[in-house]
Amino acid sequence: MSRRYRLIIDPIACDGHGVCAELLPERVTLDPWGFPAVEPGDLPPGLVSHAERAVVGCPRLALHLVRSDP
Ligand code: SF4
Repeated sequence: MSRRYRLIIDPIACDGHGVCAELLPERVTLDPWGFPAVEPGDLPPGLVSHAERAVVGCPRLALHLVRSDP
Protein backbone atom coordinates (compact mmCIF):
# COMPACT_ATOMS: atom_id res chain seq x y z
CA MET A 1 0.00 0.00 0.00
CA SER A 2 1.42 3.39 -0.91
CA ARG A 3 1.80 6.06 1.72
CA ARG A 4 -0.54 8.98 1.79
CA TYR A 5 0.36 12.49 2.84
CA ARG A 6 -1.32 15.79 3.39
CA LEU A 7 -0.05 19.29 3.91
CA ILE A 8 -0.76 21.38 6.97
CA ILE A 9 0.18 24.95 7.79
CA ASP A 10 1.04 26.28 11.22
CA PRO A 11 -0.85 29.59 11.12
CA ILE A 12 1.11 30.95 14.07
CA ALA A 13 4.48 30.43 12.39
CA CYS A 14 3.37 31.45 8.90
CA ASP A 15 3.94 35.08 8.03
CA GLY A 16 2.64 35.02 4.50
CA HIS A 17 5.79 34.91 2.39
CA GLY A 18 3.84 33.00 -0.24
CA VAL A 19 6.75 30.78 -1.28
CA CYS A 20 4.56 27.72 -0.79
CA ALA A 21 2.00 28.97 -3.29
CA GLU A 22 4.75 29.58 -5.82
CA LEU A 23 6.22 26.10 -5.33
CA LEU A 24 2.94 24.21 -5.10
CA PRO A 25 0.23 26.18 -6.87
CA GLU A 26 -1.71 22.96 -7.45
CA ARG A 27 -2.55 22.80 -3.73
CA VAL A 28 -1.85 26.18 -2.17
CA THR A 29 -3.59 29.45 -2.90
CA LEU A 30 -3.13 32.81 -1.23
CA ASP A 31 -5.87 34.87 0.31
CA PRO A 32 -6.09 38.62 -0.37
CA TRP A 33 -3.64 39.27 2.50
CA GLY A 34 -1.06 36.81 1.15
CA PHE A 35 -1.72 34.02 3.61
CA PRO A 36 -1.96 30.51 2.26
CA ALA A 37 -4.88 28.13 2.11
CA VAL A 38 -4.15 24.47 1.50
CA GLU A 39 -6.58 22.35 -0.40
CA PRO A 40 -7.77 19.69 2.06
CA GLY A 41 -7.27 16.00 1.60
CA ASP A 42 -4.47 13.69 0.61
CA LEU A 43 -1.88 14.79 -1.90
CA PRO A 44 -1.93 13.02 -5.22
CA PRO A 45 1.19 10.79 -5.29
CA GLY A 46 2.64 12.80 -8.16
CA LEU A 47 2.68 15.95 -6.05
CA VAL A 48 4.45 14.61 -2.95
CA SER A 49 7.95 15.52 -4.14
CA HIS A 50 6.73 19.01 -5.07
CA ALA A 51 5.18 19.31 -1.61
CA GLU A 52 8.49 18.30 -0.03
CA ARG A 53 10.19 21.11 -1.92
CA ALA A 54 7.59 23.57 -0.69
CA VAL A 55 8.12 22.40 2.90
CA VAL A 56 11.87 22.91 2.62
CA GLY A 57 11.37 26.26 0.91
CA CYS A 58 9.15 27.75 3.60
CA PRO A 59 11.33 30.33 5.36
CA ARG A 60 9.30 30.05 8.57
CA LEU A 61 9.16 26.25 8.78
CA ALA A 62 5.40 26.64 8.89
CA LEU A 63 4.53 24.07 6.28
CA HIS A 64 4.43 20.40 7.23
CA LEU A 65 3.95 17.19 5.32
CA VAL A 66 2.23 14.61 7.49
CA ARG A 67 1.26 11.01 6.96
CA SER A 68 -2.45 10.57 6.67
CA ASP A 69 -2.60 6.79 6.48
CA PRO A 70 -3.11 4.94 9.75
S1 SF4 B 1 6.03 29.75 2.56
FE1 SF4 B 1 5.67 29.31 4.75
S2 SF4 B 1 5.59 31.33 5.73
FE2 SF4 B 1 5.32 31.62 3.54
S3 SF4 B 1 3.10 31.64 3.19
FE3 SF4 B 1 3.81 29.53 2.86
S4 SF4 B 1 3.59 28.52 4.88
FE4 SF4 B 1 3.50 30.74 5.23
